[in-house]
Amino acid sequence: MPIPTTIAKGADRLQIGSNNMKLYRLLFDKINELYKNSPELHEHRDVTLELLKNKAEGKDPPPTQEKDDRPIVVVAVGHSRKGDSGATTWDGSTNEHRYNLQIATQLCELLEESELVKPVLLSNYGGKTYSQAIRWLSDKVNSLGTVALVVELHFNSAGNPKAKGSEFLFWHSSQKGAQFAQHFSQKMTDFFPTLVERGPKPIKSGQRGALFLRRLAPVCLLLEPFFGSSTSDWKIFKSTRGKSDLVRCYFEAIVESVL
Ligand SMILES: [Zn+2]
Repeated sequence: MPIPTTIAKGADRLQIGSNNMKLYRLLFDKINELYKNSPELHEHRDVTLELLKNKAEGKDPPPTQEKDDRPIVVVAVGHSRKGDSGATTWDGSTNEHRYNLQIATQLCELLEESELVKPVLLSNYGGKTYSQAIRWLSDKVNSLGTVALVVELHFNSAGNPKAKGSEFLFWHSSQKGAQFAQHFSQKMTDFFPTLVERGPKPIKSGQRGALFLRRLAPVCLLLEPFFGSSTSDWKIFKSTRGKSDLVRCYFEAIVESVL
């Protein structure tokens, strides 16, 4: 017996009123009769019956599970290991961990809403030492499957109060890392034209952030958008406007890099 597609299609077009269970039962019997001698087609029959039942009950058809093939982007909060909170701003009002957890949370909300990428927020790193924390992070990232980009959020700090501007660190031999870092740097200047653009910074073994940038398999960037030790930088980034612009800037840089 061929697959009675006309019945299935016809059933799909039926406009059954929400209270019309009587018609549903009639069709239920008819369809069962039709498929009686074709046990191999019972799955097909069940789909049709399910559809009819939903229509009769006034329900929407069950949502079809679509494959989620959005690129995965990990947003990691630097210094979120217990006992490490990173640098403090010059006025003592906040530190890297606290500041960036807020930025990361808003950024992931925006990325999620856009449905363009699949964000994963990683904070509260495990491990007692920096290298243990990086191992923890790398295990987490590897468990996610194919990850398009990992960004770790920081801000810079220096003894010299005149040091200021944005820096984006990448592993020196990563071509994509260089390309993405350049894009972040450019984007930062678009959003904050008065900020000094220190630019992308290639990192080699033994340099700041080397373990993080080298150890993780996907493209990694370490984001240092400003100096918390600079009065003029911090004036921009402590404001509500500065924070929301930073979120928006990261959002655009991420989406444009990975898509
Ligand atoms: Zn840091």
